[in-house]
Amino acid sequence: MSAENTETPTHVVVVGGGPGGYEAALVARSLGARVTLVERQGMGGAAVLTDVVPSKTLIATAEWMTIADRAPELGIRVPDQLDLTGDVSVSLATGNIPVVSPYLAASPTPGAAGTPEATRPASDLKHFVDLRAVNARVLALAGAQSADIRGRLEREGVEIVTGTGRLDGPGRVVVDVPGGGTRSLEADAVLLALGATPRTLPTAVPDGDRILTWTQVYNLTELPERLIVVGSGVTGAEFAGAYNALGADVVLVSSRDRVLPGEDEDAAELLEGVFRSRGMTVMSRSRAESAVRTDDGVAVTLADGRVVHGSHVLIAVGAVPSTEGLGLEEAGVRLSASGHVVVDKVSRTSVRGVYAAGDCTGVLPLASVAAMQGRIAMHHALGGGVSPLALGTVAANIFTAPEIATVGYSEERLKAQGSRYITTTLPLARNPRAKMLGMRDGFVKLFAHPEAGVVLGGVVVAPRASELIFPVTLAVQHRLTVDDVASAFTIYPSLSGSIAEAARVLDARVTPH
Ligand SMILES: Cc1cc2nc3c(=O)[nH]c(=O)nc-3n(C[C@H](O)[C@H](O)[C@H](O)COP(=O)(O)OP(=O)(O)OC[C@H]3O[C@@H](n4cnc5c(N)ncnc54)[C@H](O)[C@@H]3O)c2cc1C
Repeated sequence: MSAENTETPTHVVVVGGGPGGYEAALVARSLGARVTLVERQGMGGAAVLTDVVPSKTLIATAEWMTIADRAPELGIRVPDQLDLTGDVSVSLATGNIPVVSPYLAASPTPGAAGTPEATRPASDLKHFVDLRAVNARVLALAGAQSADIRGRLEREGVEIVTGTGRLDGPGRVVVDVPGGGTRSLEADAVLLALGATPRTLPTAVPDGDRILTWTQVYNLTELPERLIVVGSGVTGAEFAGAYNALGADVVLVSSRDRVLPGEDEDAAELLEGVFRSRGMTVMSRSRAESAVRTDDGVAVTLADGRVVHGSHVLIAVGAVPSTEGLGLEEAGVRLSASGHVVVDKVSRTSVRGVYAAGDCTGVLPLASVAAMQGRIAMHHALGGGVSPLALGTVAANIFTAPEIATVGYSEERLKAQGSRYITTTLPLARNPRAKMLGMRDGFVKLFAHPEAGVVLGGVVVAPRASELIFPVTLAVQHRLTVDDVASAFTIYPSLSGSIAEAARVLDARVTPH
């Protein structure tokens, strides 16, 4: 199926314009194929329109609030004379002064450090959050990014078809176009990048007003008085943390022993402690069974009969692949019991010429992985060099405060497979830069082979851990040793100094044969 040396270029039809689809479309064009991309919602997919971009933009505002939390400790006075009920709303959409500035603009109270007013709880800052403006910015940013992606695809010569695509046998995609009618596309190769949608419970049907999925929160014009978040996985934890920082009263309902099941245990425990210390109610081993509207809010009933009342509830209990009713099984595409498309490491499905990428495959629900699967599929389909998908080096981040970034082997996996490893954990509170910034919650943890000294994995829990993890990712990707990492210069003072320091600690414990 090589795109080269043929008179008629290979025709690739991509269904789904998220990271799995649009990245692949660009690669296929660069390899000389004619490419048609079918999308029913908007370019960039759920990643850009409802999931990654909106949530991280909301969290960016929440991050400012978390930083403001540290203001009194850093000598920024918060005078008690400030009238919090006055008109102090700030428009983030217009790029005006950030949310903390009204505090800073007010006249400082000399010598007030350590006085009650200097340690005003962060929740008071909620008076400065104009959620309507925050959400307007979120949606504008997502819309602009979607338009950018569309522009790029068009410039590269990708034909975009708006509508819902379905397979009509292995080599044909039929598109139901808006307003009625269909369009039939013959394809030499098809890439299914269909994504997923929020899982809902029949006993907690989202109404977009009080009972919400994560795609619906951006319609809120006011901060929820009391937000119940059902689900303590990555999505639930990120939203619970963000709304808590923005000033909402948050109850996190978790069916498990702790938040973030499956993540590094120390990191999850630390985060749960931070959540509680910020006033969040974390209900562990509490399975939510139903959510209904009441006169003035919502009532969430737990499996043990307890009822939690709130103004709003966010249901974050996972996602279901968008694979139903699209003729996949009829065309011979194998689906798993959960409805995901079964793929191999080069993104092939059970049908020759049909590939799949991203969340519809259930391999690893990350935008970066979706894009990689899509690129690999196109290289395979169009005869380019292919390296099979390697998940061992994927870096992932949980955008809470502090953030939790991981790469390589987790401790759980090292233990489960009986691997020998050495590890060390350096608390952030010992790092000089962290002390200067007033940061206490976090750590750097590395795992290495006890004899070869090769870095096997790492966990960074810190503000902006997503940026700090990169040297560890490089080490894991290129099989660097703790000696390699330890001998590189770091800036003094810097948070990344803790990564080199952790490597030094381990280097001293490596015992070569
Ligand atoms: C709240 C939240 C936050 C997240 N944050 C991050 C993050 O910070 N970093 C990260 O890496 N990942 C994050 N993720 C995961 C990330 O969103 C997904 O892994 C990523 O979107 C997967 O890309 P995709 O291309 O498979 O699917 P999507 O982005 O879902 O795109 C699929 C597209 O296919 C379209 N489509 C589906 N069926 C059809 C059809 N039949 N015809 C036409 N079009 C169709 C849909 O309309 C959609 O636009 C987050 C997820 C959630 C829920």
